[in-house]
Amino acid sequence: MADDVQRVYVASVVEEGGNSLALGCFSSEETAWQVLRTFLKKSDQMLLISSTVVVWDIDVIGEDGVNVLSTMECKDCPVCGRRTFWMDLENFSALCHGNACAAWVEESTLEPGIIDCGWPPVRFLKQAKDIDEAFSELFKLGDKMKAISQVDTLGENEPQEMLEEFEKQVALDSN
Ligand SMILES: [Zn+2]
Repeated sequence: MADDVQRVYVASVVEEGGNSLALGCFSSEETAWQVLRTFLKKSDQMLLISSTVVVWDIDVIGEDGVNVLSTMECKDCPVCGRRTFWMDLENFSALCHGNACAAWVEESTLEPGIIDCGWPPVRFLKQAKDIDEAFSELFKLGDKMKAISQVDTLGENEPQEMLEEFEKQVALDSN
């Protein structure tokens, strides 16, 4: 079919200071996301401020050929403290891509206006009335984790150690 449009999906990240790093150009949106997600796991090792996935229609001149599918901003994770917390501001959702964390905040799909947040490693799940409250729930959890492992800031391997400590603690409490 002659009118089949060919498209490419481009993933990129922007460093602090505005330098843009291209992660590649892919024939499917899924692959672009996979590559981006893998990259974001290590985002605490760089100073990144945002990421985008855009789709380009081939052979279209000018800006009509490009569409932004997603823009995310990078923040410090409220739970593990690493800079691996990525927020999609448009369809409000946020997720920590850091190893052993995966803290998240998202608008409830069942109750619009309600914000859900969670931390899978300990099956923490809470509902909040707004985004601020959801974040403060996660910060509280992060503080608790830091208190248990008796550190002020969490380094590269600490979330894993912290988690083990936490599991031990939970096991003790339930005895
Ligand atoms: Zn985290």
